[in-house]
Amino acid sequence: MVSDRFIWCRNCDAVHHVTSCDRAPQYVYVEGGVEEIPGDDWRAFMKQHEGHRLEPLKASGEKQFCQSSMSDPMGVAYIEVTNGRDHLLLRQSRANIAEPLSFEVTRGRLVDQGLTVCIQDSEIKKEMRCHFKWYADAFDDQKIDLFVQLFRDVVTVIEPETIEVAGFFSKDDNVTFGLLPADVIELLMAKCSSYFQPRELDDIRRFIDSHGEPCDVLALVMRRQLKIEQSAA
Ligand SMILES: [Zn+2]
Repeated sequence: MVSDRFIWCRNCDAVHHVTSCDRAPQYVYVEGGVEEIPGDDWRAFMKQHEGHRLEPLKASGEKQFCQSSMSDPMGVAYIEVTNGRDHLLLRQSRANIAEPLSFEVTRGRLVDQGLTVCIQDSEIKKEMRCHFKWYADAFDDQKIDLFVQLFRDVVTVIEPETIEVAGFFSKDDNVTFGLLPADVIELLMAKCSSYFQPRELDDIRRFIDSHGEPCDVLALVMRRQLKIEQSAA
């Protein structure tokens, strides 16, 4: 688990992330072998900022990954922290892949702007192409695109808050997966009936029935939109 504690030097505006790696040595490759560099980032930080005004900061709730995925080592994240009185925002970034994460204090808050709902367009298309591959009168790309377009239209009428959360996305804290509600499936089938032949409708129904699991391609993608609201110091 990633630590949610930081030390902030008010004199230098420097931030140290308190982690379990603080005392871990670093290993560097040198000619003929590996060399150990004793590490103690916490002690080094405390020494560097000796006599300065230090404040502990603790993550207070919201966290946002700006570049959508926390698996991206270069991704920028904003973390809400508090020193017990004020709410502050830490900007987490990395200058390059070899550097450790660095943190910077900014005044501001993450403002929740609600959920947006979308479908997994490209995954659905890929799955449909695979699903209909063996059919004599296969669903061609045009029909698949049409289905995806109709699905996308239907989803716009759903109130995000009414969707049952079915799973979480390990790479982004702001994304959850939602179950496709039964009445939305019926709405989609009704829309499809204007464009597809009865036999194609049966095929679509079977595709929907066999891909409705929470982890499957028909699951809805709900993304929480957070805005960074800067405030004056
Ligand atoms: Zn300092």
